[in-house]
Amino acid sequence: MPLLRQLEFAFRTVAGIADPGRFGAPQDAGVTAPGYNNAKPNLNLEETARELLGSLGATRIANDLRVEWNSRLKTAAGRVDYHQKLISLNPRLFEHPAEIDRTLRHELAHILAQFRAGRRRISPHGTEWRQACRDLGIADEKRCHNLPFRARTYVAPFVYRCPNCRQDFLRVRRLRRAVACLGCCRKHNGGEFDPRFRLRLIR
Ligand SMILES: [Zn+2]
Ligand SMILES: [Zn+2]
Repeated sequence: MPLLRQLEFAFRTVAGIADPGRFGAPQDAGVTAPGYNNAKPNLNLEETARELLGSLGATRIANDLRVEWNSRLKTAAGRVDYHQKLISLNPRLFEHPAEIDRTLRHELAHILAQFRAGRRRISPHGTEWRQACRDLGIADEKRCHNLPFRARTYVAPFVYRCPNCRQDFLRVRRLRRAVACLGCCRKHNGGEFDPRFRLRLIR
């Protein structure tokens, strides 16, 4: 006999923090040029970045620019060292393919802004950087380098649905036992397990 596990409230809690609309990576399609968002390990980001720099008048430094994947980055999506002309990208960006091109351009904007400013000291995400973002096609870029890496671990990959009330329940793990909708079991079966309300995996 399958056990009714009263998980509804736990479900609700998980659902509350797992709403992908709030934590999902923003979709950048339409903002950045197509073609750079394919997350393949052999992505030639360095070439892309050099071409962008060159096309925006920074030919002098374009060939010095290097782009690396650096697994020492934790929550930051990317990092830039203007002196070394080095852009470091977090390999976890592969979990957010749409963010790869955007992060590259975000970091590139730091380099372009500093190049244009010469020896003048500029603030990291100030006017010069914002102008560079516009020139690089990411006019709406925010200052934050962080990706929702941490939040992503809360996003429940399993969605169960009650066949009766159609309510969805999000779960981080696959259910190992038969679980029925508590609300429907209470309403129609005195709170006892009822296979008619057994949750079904829909995703
Ligand atoms: Zn930045
Ligand atoms: Zn139900």
